[in-house]
Amino acid sequence: MIYLKNYINGELIEPLKKQYLENVDPSKGTVFSMIPDSDASDVQLAVAAAKDAEHDWANMHYEKRAQYIEAIAKGIERRLDEFAKAESLDNGKPLKLATRVDIPRAVSNFRFFATAIQQQSSESHYMEGIGINYTLRRPIGVVACISPWNLPLYLFSWKIAPALATGNCVIAKPSEVTPYTAYLLSEVCIEVGLPKGVLNIVHGLGQKVGDEISRNKDIKAISFTGGTATGKTIASIAAPMFKKLSLELGGKNPNIIFADCDFDEMIKTTVRSSFENQGQICLCGSRIFVERSIYDKFKNTFVEKVKALKIGDPNTDVNIGAIVSKNHYEKILSYIEIAKQEGGTILTGGHAVKLEGECANGYFIAPTVIEGLAYDCRTNMEEIFGPVVTIMPFDTEEEVLKYANATEYGLAATIWTNNLTRAHRMAENVQSGIIWINTWLLRDLRTPFGGMKNSGVGREGGWEAVRFFTEAKNVCIKY
Ligand code: NAD
Repeated sequence: MIYLKNYINGELIEPLKKQYLENVDPSKGTVFSMIPDSDASDVQLAVAAAKDAEHDWANMHYEKRAQYIEAIAKGIERRLDEFAKAESLDNGKPLKLATRVDIPRAVSNFRFFATAIQQQSSESHYMEGIGINYTLRRPIGVVACISPWNLPLYLFSWKIAPALATGNCVIAKPSEVTPYTAYLLSEVCIEVGLPKGVLNIVHGLGQKVGDEISRNKDIKAISFTGGTATGKTIASIAAPMFKKLSLELGGKNPNIIFADCDFDEMIKTTVRSSFENQGQICLCGSRIFVERSIYDKFKNTFVEKVKALKIGDPNTDVNIGAIVSKNHYEKILSYIEIAKQEGGTILTGGHAVKLEGECANGYFIAPTVIEGLAYDCRTNMEEIFGPVVTIMPFDTEEEVLKYANATEYGLAATIWTNNLTRAHRMAENVQSGIIWINTWLLRDLRTPFGGMKNSGVGREGGWEAVRFFTEAKNVCIKY
């Protein structure tokens, strides 16, 4: 049995109370490792280490900081296969997806911000004949990064990399459901000689570790990605303490398909945008609206392609792996029941899948397509975050905008049309922080990333992240 450890003050250590939690392989339903069940005292130890490291890291030349961060990128890259196996084992996602997407993206995150920080410039505001202002951007100090289980290292590093690059010391908490690659990251940090206390990784439950992060007065900013309810809890504690907050929350993304789109490209991408990572990507399109004239053609082709998706052992060549945990598996199945009660017709899927052999007790759900539901029923309003999509016809732009904007969320939207003016009109009017036209999940790390409405507060990505992790100071000089 592997016992993971916290990474505090440059060392791998046991949780102070020596309590552990079980970590389950969701494809088999068996415990494969134990993770620290840390509490407030472990976070406080990490904060003390970060405070000790704060001055030197903040004042280190940016090129030197960038070298450490690039070394971390290289360290992960060198062990890519090992990281990908760990991610797949922990999360249940197909190994080929972790190898192609998750781990390379974590490498890119570190590399991107190692480079970005060397290109950073600051603003200056000139007052004709009077003086000049310039903006100093200084690190905040000790900051925290809290991440979810769906894209474990990908999202963990998306926060840690800009926080470190801008000169902050970090307390980082991975999801207790998928802690393994965060543990491997701490090994890499030791290998590359990252100065002690600069990054501290504390494992454990949200209610203990996360709660202390929200309350600890020495943590000045929190970058959080996870559920909307958790974001609300964190904000209720941290906002009155005037901590800086970046909250990337839930979604219920529309996928809007007009008859004039490139049908084949749209179908291929829509299968991915519905079911990649078992539908457990915050950017997946779970409500599919199709212009009525192509609705039947869409329905038949889409359902046929979804039926052909291979589901099974994540270690083999499959499209769909296991759902991340028993709890989440039960939640998804309960939503399928709600959809049936609401009058939905299951076109394919709609049930758990029992595999043979080693994966007999794993948490697998068949990719599910449902039609015949009202746009404002619970199935279409609440985040399911699994391999479940609904499809629905529409007649006009006005009507589909009403459907698309009906939820409390506003994270991402996908629009399929070859009508240029319509594409722009829709992009302007759909209430989402991220809009993809004729594509999905095409990412440029320089762009602002985040949601509107209850999908979040603030933006990540590029300079947005650099701005979040720094304090702007205006210096005014009269001459
Ligand atoms: P979650 O909110 O349950 O947990 C996220 C993290 O918060 C975990 O590390 C957890 O331990 C911690 N946490 C839980 N309770 C806490 C508390 N009281 N105080 C502080 N921290 C606490 O979310 P999840 O189930 O891990 O992830 C799924 C959710 O994440 C979905 O809603 C999904 O849409 C969202 N998500 C959003 C984005 C985005 O970019 N907007 C990206 C990925 C996932």
